[in-house]
This record gives sequence, C-alpha cells and structure tokens, in this order.
Amino acid sequence: VDVEALVQAVADLDPKGSGSGSAYSSFTDLPLSAPTAAGLKAAHFSTLTDIQAKAVPLALKGHDILGAAKTGSGKTLAFLIPVLENLYRAQCIGSDAGLGAMIISPTRELAIQIFEVLRKVGGKGHLFAAGLVIGGKSLHEERDALARMNIVVCTPGRILQHLSQTALFSVDNLRMLVLDEADRILDMGFQRDVDAILDYLPADRQTMLFSATQTKRVSDLARLSLKEPEYVAVHESA
Ligand code: ADP
Ligand code: MG
Repeated sequence: VDVEALVQAVADLDPKGSGSGSAYSSFTDLPLSAPTAAGLKAAHFSTLTDIQAKAVPLALKGHDILGAAKTGSGKTLAFLIPVLENLYRAQCIGSDAGLGAMIISPTRELAIQIFEVLRKVGGKGHLFAAGLVIGGKSLHEERDALARMNIVVCTPGRILQHLSQTALFSVDNLRMLVLDEADRILDMGFQRDVDAILDYLPADRQTMLFSATQTKRVSDLARLSLKEPEYVAVHESA
C-alpha cells in the first residue's frame, strides 16, 4: 500500500466500525502501513483489545483522545499504532523531518516499557528515529540524540529541561502529543511541568491522554490542551 492509498483509506475509515456498524476486531481490518502490520504480526498481536478498538480508528483519523481503561487493557498500542501511522502517512520520517511525536510517561521505568513496545512493533521496516529521554545520560548526549529523533518517549521533568535549556531543540514539527498514565502524571505533581511543556509545543497538534481512571483532574488538563476530544472508556464488566 503506498502512502497516498493509505491516506485515502484512512479518510474513508468509519471510526465506529465496518459497514455493519460493528467495531474493528482484527488489526488486518484497519488501514495500516506494511511495516506496522508486519510488526504487529511478528509480535503475535492479531485481535484488538476493547480500548484499542475504540481508540485506534478515531486516533488514526486525527482526533484528540481522552482514553480510560484499566491496567493491562492494552493502552500502549492504542497510542503507539496511531503515532506510527499518522507520522508515516505524513512522511515525518528521518533526521530532517524533525520531532513529530512526544510521548510522556510519569516514570522512567514505564517510559522504557513503552519504548520496548515501540521497538517491537515499529522496528519491522519503519525508518523512524526514536529514542528515550529520561535522564541517566548527560544533557549533552541526550540533546544530540534528540536533534535526530522523530519520536521521543520521555519523562516530564527531563523533557522540560531540554525544552527550556536546549536552544537547538526544535519542536516546530511536532504533530502528536501523548500523555500515558495521565492520572499518575498529575498525582505525582507533574501538572506544572506538563503545563510548561505545553507552552513550548505547537497548538496545532493531535493530543492523546490515556489513563486507568478518568479523574476530574485529567479532565481539567484535557480542557487545557485537547480540541473536542473523543472520550473513549472501557468499563469493567462485572
Ligand atoms: P495498559 O497500558 O493498559 O496497562 P499494556 O499496553 O501494557 O496495557 O498491555 C498489557 C498487555 O497486553 C501487554 O502484555 C501487551 O503485550 C498485551 N496486549 C496489548 N494489546 C494486545 C493485543 N491486541 N493482543 C494481545 N495482547 C495485547
Ligand atoms: Mg500502560
């Protein structure tokens, strides 16, 4: 599938489901690039989880997302697949393309986990430059790596440090922002960091928030940064 055909297929995609109105159940039902499809297949992901079925089609179409589903429900792929696909369709690939997506996680450990999934699913033929910015390396080393990244997985304090201290770090091309574990980001007192980060980012972007619970404070944050967000939640069936 070439990029133009993929753009058209996503434009034609009904986010509510296939013709019969049913939700998408298999990744092969979705208009995905060959490298992402290959990555999912190699990782033995074939059926979408509930939150993925609700969030991925909307996110592919560029909607802002406020997603809630309990731990273990597959939220990571719910945002990583749209990140890979939307950057791919926009051809935001390679060191000249700049930083296209920022994924913020509350802890270094969770950031590393996200990055591992990104490598597993996105590493089968995609040519994105992706990296972790979570501290532990010198600012200098991280800055040089950041200058080449298309996708960064980061913690709030560390990325804010780069945004405020690294003159050469440009986020002008950023088109996607993800806050994973958004409720924990707020619980852990990162609200001011996140607000400061938002000030640096282009306003014309797609924003996705995912968390285990849809707390009021997450909604507050959403009001600050989301444009007509789609609320997608998966509630536990008893
Ligand atoms: P959450 O972020 O909601 O806590 P994760 O994204 O960490 O959940 O996923 C939880 C587990 O489910 C992981 O082991 C992941 O590999 C697995 N998983 C995610 N999506 C799928 C899928 N579509 N099919 C099978 N397993 C999946
Ligand atoms: Mg998670």
